[in-house]
Amino acid sequence: MEKKIAEIKARIEAACARSNRDPKDITLIAVSKTKPIAMLKAAYDLGMRDFGENKVQEIVDKYPHMPEDCRFHMIGHLQTNKVHQVLDKTVLIHSVDSLHLAERIEKEASKREFTAQILLEVNAAREESKFGFYLEETEEALRKIVCFPHICVKGLMTIAPNVENAQENRKYFKDLYQLYVDIKSKNIDNGTMSVLSMGMTGDFEVAVEEGATMIRVGTGIFGSR
Ligand SMILES: *Cc1c(COP(=O)(O)O)cnc(C)c1O
Repeated sequence: MEKKIAEIKARIEAACARSNRDPKDITLIAVSKTKPIAMLKAAYDLGMRDFGENKVQEIVDKYPHMPEDCRFHMIGHLQTNKVHQVLDKTVLIHSVDSLHLAERIEKEASKREFTAQILLEVNAAREESKFGFYLEETEEALRKIVCFPHICVKGLMTIAPNVENAQENRKYFKDLYQLYVDIKSKNIDNGTMSVLSMGMTGDFEVAVEEGATMIRVGTGIFGSR
């Protein structure tokens, strides 16, 4: 695992060099879904602090076994009836894909007098199989969600299509970056737009070149699932 992490970091640095970016501006999230706690601990010992999970139950199971400075990110579709289980165990919910879900997050966060940090998931490639707002719906949804006092919208997330050649996803990353910049320029209150979560094992270099600030790498760190 040590070699794999070093390789991913070297590839992030190379992508940054190509696009005049600072590697410090990119957070590598180790996507540990389906992997046992021992593997998360091994990654922790190698310096990883950010972990991505796509199932509520896995976060609930793993959270108590990890050191306190370990940060869990919810990256999978979140059912409204499970929001209360992850709110206090995650630093960021990347996958807010409906107004309905945001409403539930507001309700649960309000009960706890807590501010939930979230990203809006955008279905940039308009895939039927994926969740998320279409590009053209996102700003309107954001304007509604920023009115919720217990939610802080930090940015946008997308899951690009599963393709052979990562270059095919460049257009979706460009589209999301453009939307991110557009929204940022409008200075919408409580919609700070400082996080752009895009890129996975197969396409993170292209995502970094196009402006990602968080990349989510599973297979590239932990091996195949
Ligand atoms: C599984 C998953 C990843 C990581 O995928 P890899 O191809 O293994 O790097 C990233 N983001 C989301 C939302 C995922 O569900």
